[in-house]
Amino acid sequence: MMESEKNIAAETQSSGLRIDIISCVPRLLDSFFDHSILKRAKDAGHAEVVIHDLRDYSIQKQKQIDDYAFGGGAGMVLGIETIARCIRSLQSIRIYDDIIYMTPDGERFQQKMANRLSMSKNLMILCGHYKGIDERVREHFITKEISIGDYVLSGGELPAAVVSDALIRLIPGVLNDETSALTDSFQDNLLAPPVYTRPADFEGWKVPEVLLSGHEKKINDWRMEQSIKRTQERRPDLLQ
Ligand code: SAH
Repeated sequence: MMESEKNIAAETQSSGLRIDIISCVPRLLDSFFDHSILKRAKDAGHAEVVIHDLRDYSIQKQKQIDDYAFGGGAGMVLGIETIARCIRSLQSIRIYDDIIYMTPDGERFQQKMANRLSMSKNLMILCGHYKGIDERVREHFITKEISIGDYVLSGGELPAAVVSDALIRLIPGVLNDETSALTDSFQDNLLAPPVYTRPADFEGWKVPEVLLSGHEKKINDWRMEQSIKRTQERRPDLLQ
């Protein structure tokens, strides 16, 4: 077997989530996945993120990937030819649950969407740049469009990293304490309660007594109370 075939075979056997990110500024993502929880997830085989440089798929001599917008106006547009080559090349190796385009006019990213997407096997995420991408890519290749919020960033790299992080930490086994992700904010529409660690008394600022009591039921009740209070104060919309 050739080395590349071996890799493919090994990858198809792995049970974790694989995310292929297509970017024209791949270096922006270089170190993001190489630390902390995401690094551990990768080392343990729970998740793999592979970054692809869109420029590698350009057929032009200068490796150009963008062009002026038809009809005029400011800003360059990423062209369909290079993107199509890249997507098709990835599709020739694996079947993707979704081909995602990060875009401010996509569906707003929320915990529920993260929960659902984290159960995927293979995801492709396309990062736009400049004015965006040729609309035909969106019509013919993209199966899901996601926005991380109502503001405009200069590229889809940070949004792709945000989505990948949110998905990977949900995969069973990635967080040390398996229940940990379930008690985070937005799971069951409640914000998380406050947390404290040592010292119990810092210059007279004390940790709530109940947390030191060792009484599990009382502690859980207190946490639930705090969650509800916090949600009522900060995000009453979640309780509706
Ligand atoms: N002209 C576009 C914005 C382009 S911003 C418009 O007005 O909608 C350049 C790229 O950054 C986009 O193609 C997208 O991939 C990414 N991007 C910017 N803001 C984003 C957001 N809020 N959510 C997801 N992706 C975003």
